[in-house]
Amino acid sequence: MVPWNKIKFALIDMDGTLLDRYFDDYFWEEYVPEKYAELKRISYDKARKKLLAMYKKEEKTLNWTDVLYWSERLGLDIVAMKIKLRNQVRIHPGVEAFLHFLRDQKKELILVTNAHPRTVQIKMEQTLLLPYFHTVLTSSDIGLPKEEVGFWRDAENVLNYEKERSILIDDNENVLLAAHTYGIKHILHKSAASSRKVHERSEIFPSFKRFDDLISR
Ligand SMILES: [Mg+2]
Repeated sequence: MVPWNKIKFALIDMDGTLLDRYFDDYFWEEYVPEKYAELKRISYDKARKKLLAMYKKEEKTLNWTDVLYWSERLGLDIVAMKIKLRNQVRIHPGVEAFLHFLRDQKKELILVTNAHPRTVQIKMEQTLLLPYFHTVLTSSDIGLPKEEVGFWRDAENVLNYEKERSILIDDNENVLLAAHTYGIKHILHKSAASSRKVHERSEIFPSFKRFDDLISR
């Protein structure tokens, strides 16, 4: 159980946490390779293998989620492709009720994401979750990905959250570890980030699967 009475600031991740990561896995691992194969006139398997290797090199960097970087590098209009598929973006069950609960409890809600601002815009327009949040902070605003301890230090300067009275909810253990190292007191891991993958639980931090379980009545 989360000690909500000790928490004022709720820092919440977008992809995999509020939204089903299946969309992103499908987009990057299947849809983009398909379009890249067409563009380069190579086989789908060859395109996929090449792209997965390219992605891997950019993990934990700002390029990883930078749609403009990948558009340029791959010669594909990634933003237009995301807009085309936007009706496949899905919210995890129970998210709206949970965000309502936090609003009722007068928590300050902050969306904290590595996603590119253009991606955030497309997904928020599609899901209508934006009005729940007081602020949105992306890693490109800070210039560091959330996996870096420095991100949380600089984020504190921007947001004025109090780390002793904050909770971070994220599906990425490396992100949680960086925030924990910085001193954010309450850390919660979202398991079942993708509806189509095995639900890996965190070995380090408390994990939850269903948002309903976080609401104390
Ligand atoms: Mg995430």
